[in-house]
Amino acid sequence: MKRGRFAPTPSGDMHLGNAKIALLSWLQMRAAGGVFVLRIEDIDIQRSRPEITERILADLRWLGLDWDEGPGASEASGPYLQSQRTGLYEEALAKLAADGRLYPCFCSRAELLAVAGAPHGLSSEGVPYPGTCRSLSPEERERRARHKEPSLRFAIGPEAVSFVDGIAGPQVFPPGSGGDFVVRRADRMFSYQLAVTVDDALMGITDVLRGDDLLDSTPRQLHLYAALGLTPPAFAHAPLILGEDGRRLAKRHGDLGISSLRAAGTKPETVIGWLAYISGLLDDPVAVTAKELIPGFRLDRISHEPFMLTEAMVRRLLPGVSPS
Ligand code: GLU
Repeated sequence: MKRGRFAPTPSGDMHLGNAKIALLSWLQMRAAGGVFVLRIEDIDIQRSRPEITERILADLRWLGLDWDEGPGASEASGPYLQSQRTGLYEEALAKLAADGRLYPCFCSRAELLAVAGAPHGLSSEGVPYPGTCRSLSPEERERRARHKEPSLRFAIGPEAVSFVDGIAGPQVFPPGSGGDFVVRRADRMFSYQLAVTVDDALMGITDVLRGDDLLDSTPRQLHLYAALGLTPPAFAHAPLILGEDGRRLAKRHGDLGISSLRAAGTKPETVIGWLAYISGLLDDPVAVTAKELIPGFRLDRISHEPFMLTEAMVRRLLPGVSPS
C-alpha cells in the first residue's frame, strides 16, 4: 500500500506554494488508493507555534485535503509531531555512532563561512563542509570539548548518489557532494535531515512529494538511509511558486496565506482549480474540488517549470484578494 505525507513546518502560515505541494501529495495518494499522512515538523520549537499548526489543519480541511493519519486522525504510526519523536532520533544517532559514522565538530559559523568563497556554491545548509574536524584525534576532541559544546556531523559514504525523481527526472550527485552534514546542533537540536529520514522511514512512507527546494537535500537523506539500513521512498520534487522577484513565495509577496484567502471570502474550489491549473493538471483555472481532480491525476502531468505569480494574476484569478 502506498503511503505519502505532507510535512509542514509550523513556523509560518500555509501559503499558495505549500498548498500546491499538499494538493499534489494528497492527489498522488488518493489516485493510488494510498494512505495520506500529516506530520508536523516542529522540531525547532523556538520557531514553531501551536496556533500555526491549528491554522494549517484548518486550512487543509478547508481545501478538502483530508489525512488518514496525523493530528486528529489515526495515530497508528505516531506520534506525528516531531517534537514528540526525539527518542527515535536519539536511537538513530546511537546506531550511527556505534558504526563510527558520527564525529564532533567544533567549527564556528565564521570558520565555515571563511571557506564559502570556494567555487562550490552554497548548499541548502550553508556551505559544503570541508571535513576539518573529521580526523581530529580522540585526545584533541576531548581537549576541545572541555571548552566548547560540539555539533555532531555525519560522515557521508564515499559513493555517488543517483535516483530517478518522479517529476524532475534522473539525478546524479558525485561522491562527497554537499559534504558531511550536521545531524545534531551544538544546542542539541536534531537536524531536519536526520528527523525527516527517520520519520519517513519509520512511518513507512513510500512516496515523498515535496518542493524542489529540497531536491539538493535528497542525496544527504539517501546517505542516511544507507547508513541506517533503511529503505528510501520514491522521491518527486515539484517546482515552487515564485514571486515576481523570482524568489520563492513567502510573506514578502503579500497576503497569499491560505487563512487570509479563506478570510477574504475566496472559495476553496477557486484556489484548488488555480493550483491544479498552474501545476499542469487543468488546461484552464476553473473552480473544482480536490476530489474531482483524483481521476485525472498523473505524476507525469505535473509541470516541470517553476510558476511565477504576478500581481495581475492574483487579481484576475483570486478576486477579492489584494496581493500586497
Ligand atoms: N518541513 C519541510 C517544509 O515545510 C518539508 C520537509 C519535507 O517535505 O521533506 O519545508
